[in-house]
Amino acid sequence: MKIIKRSNAMAQSRPEGTWQIRVFHRKAVGKRSPRYLIKCGCCDQRFEIYYGDGTLEIAGVMGSVEDWREILLSLLTEGLKKRRRNRSTRMQPDTPKAACG
Ligand SMILES: [Zn+2]
Repeated sequence: MKIIKRSNAMAQSRPEGTWQIRVFHRKAVGKRSPRYLIKCGCCDQRFEIYYGDGTLEIAGVMGSVEDWREILLSLLTEGLKKRRRNRSTRMQPDTPKAACG
């Protein structure tokens, strides 16, 4: 499995008008599964995703990968066709309009 790596600087704006999510990875430690720590780009809001052995624990909820796929895939692919169609038109980075906290 490819480990996601990206800049974890605060307040990096995304072309979509939000702050870029910060992602931290930790390898398996003993019996503990590897995990991603997902943090908001503008504040200290966070949750963890543990993975391995066909299961995913997201924000404290344990489920099979298949179950999570069913729940999340339609959300994650929403707008994908539209974005592909608009790829030629450059989106201008903007100061995020959406913020939490
Ligand atoms: Zn925030």
